[in-house]
Amino acid sequence: MHTLDTMPELPEVETIRGQLAPLVEGRTLRRMEILDARWSRPLAPEELSDALEGRRIERLGRRGKYLVWSFEGDVHLAQHLRMTGAILFEPGGGRSGIDPPHTRVRLELGPARRGSRPDREAARRAVRLVIVDPRRFGTGELLLGSEALEAFFAARLGLEPLDEGFTGEHLRRLARGRTAPIKAFLLDQRRVAGVGNIYADEALFRARVHPLRPAGRLSTAQWSALRDAVMAALQAGIDARGATIDDFRDIDGVSGSFQDQFLVHRRAGEPCPRCGGEIVKMVVGGRGTYVCETCQPRPRRRGAAARSYL
Ligand SMILES: [Zn+2]
Repeated sequence: MHTLDTMPELPEVETIRGQLAPLVEGRTLRRMEILDARWSRPLAPEELSDALEGRRIERLGRRGKYLVWSFEGDVHLAQHLRMTGAILFEPGGGRSGIDPPHTRVRLELGPARRGSRPDREAARRAVRLVIVDPRRFGTGELLLGSEALEAFFAARLGLEPLDEGFTGEHLRRLARGRTAPIKAFLLDQRRVAGVGNIYADEALFRARVHPLRPAGRLSTAQWSALRDAVMAALQAGIDARGATIDDFRDIDGVSGSFQDQFLVHRRAGEPCPRCGGEIVKMVVGGRGTYVCETCQPRPRRRGAAARSYL
C-alpha cells in the first residue's frame, strides 16, 4: 500500500499552507503537546514546546516541502510531513479531548488578535490542531533566529521553483557536467526544492525530455522548456488542491483531485495524451517513472553513469 512514491510534494504542502495560514496567523500558541518524542528529535518534546508556547504565530510559510511556522521573537519551526503526516484543524468538530488515530502532536491556539477577518466569530475563539502521522516519519525542528533558518535550508534545499530565480539558465549551470539522469536531478531537493516523483514525471513529459537523459546534456532549449514545465505541473497541482496518494489530506481531511489530471504518472499502458502511443513504466533512480518514449525520445548514447542509476 505505502511506497516511496507517496510523499506530499510542493503542491500538496502549498495547499495545506494556503488553507492553514489565515486560520493560524496572528494567534498565540497556548499549548503544544508532543506525544511522540520522535517528532521533535533531537530535542525532547518539552524542550521544543517550551520554546514555542506563549508565542504568537506571525507567518506560516513554505520552503520546498517544509512548512515554516514563524513565531514572534524570530523563532521558527520547520515542519516536514514526510510520507503520511497531516494537519487537521478542529478535529471532532472542535470538541476538545477527541483525537483522531495516530495523533502525534496537539496544538491549542488562542483567539486571533488581528482584525478584518471574514469570520469574526471564529477569530475570537481558541482553536485546536492536531498533527497525525501513521508512519511517524514527520518532524518538527526548532530554529532560533533567521540566520539559523536560512542555514538550515541552505544545507538542504536548492532552487524554489515558484521563485524568480528559477530560470532555465540557472538550472543549466547547476547541472553542468552532471551525468545523473535528469529525473534524479529534479528529485534532488538540494538542486530543486519541492519536486517529487509525481511532478518530476509530469514536468519531463510536458517538456518532452526523457527521464534518463543525463542532466548535464540537456540543451538550452530543453532547460527552458523544463523550467516552464516544472512550473506548469506544480501550478496545475496547486490548482487541483494537490493529488491524493494514499494518506495525503488537507486540513479539513479532504483529498485533492490532481491524480485525475496526471498526464503520464501512474498511467502505464494508457495512451499518451499527446501522440496516442503507449505510456510505459520504468525505474529511474530507484523510483517508478512514467514516460511516453515517442514524445520523450531516449538519449542516444547511454553512458555507464546513467545506467548505474537504473
Ligand atoms: Zn506521446
